Amino acid sequence: MVEIELTKRQQRIIEIVKELEPITSEQIASMLSVTRSTLRPDLAILTMSGMLDARPKVGYFFSGKTDINLFSQEMKSIRVSDIMSVPVIVSEETSVYDVIVSLFLEDVGTIFVASKGFLVGVVSRKDLLKATLGGNDINKVPVAMIMTRSPNIVTTIKDDNALTAAVKIIDHEVDSLPVVERIIKDGKECLKAIGKVSKSNITKLLVELCRGGA
Ligand code: ADP
Repeated sequence: MVEIELTKRQQRIIEIVKELEPITSEQIASMLSVTRSTLRPDLAILTMSGMLDARPKVGYFFSGKTDINLFSQEMKSIRVSDIMSVPVIVSEETSVYDVIVSLFLEDVGTIFVASKGFLVGVVSRKDLLKATLGGNDINKVPVAMIMTRSPNIVTTIKDDNALTAAVKIIDHEVDSLPVVERIIKDGKECLKAIGKVSKSNITKLLVELCRGGA
């Protein structure tokens, strides 16, 4: 999900059109003291996104639709705690074989790894597949050997908004994020995994928002 933020000039164009519709691009350009060709990309964005209607020989109308803004606002108003699911967590000495079994039994794509109750790693489908290709006995290889470990884990917290979590998933090219609580133990910061936000949670949210149910 890409957040679409209107530029100052695009916002100004909307205000002008709202007030003076129908209005031609020449008139808008002269009000903003720019050329028509400077305005062309802005007007294209605003008409393509449905915020402005362009009628040939008449000019621009405000469509009344600001769906994109509303949508991104709605995504931002929803907390990670509203969409997260229960994480599947194994201990770091669990064998790769047993983690693969859990993956099937729990029907998930990513499993979190904890040591003494604190998050130390993340293991994905591809990590597990790779481990099976190595020729080692996967009954004997502990998951700690193949996981992506802290501090390289990309996390979120329950008060982050849904858009922030979705952007992290896309930017870091991962399928899911542990939802963590930071706890200071013996002067060291430790992470407790209290949930999981995956591409599925985000997709479900998008469907609910589009159906008007969220
Ligand atoms: P898949 O392996 O099914 O493509 P991912 O795209 O989630 O799943 O995982 C790709 C790699 O990123 C794996 O090596 C995995 O350990 C790692 N990974 C997965 N989730 C995270 C995360 N939240 N933070 C850091 N690394 C992650």
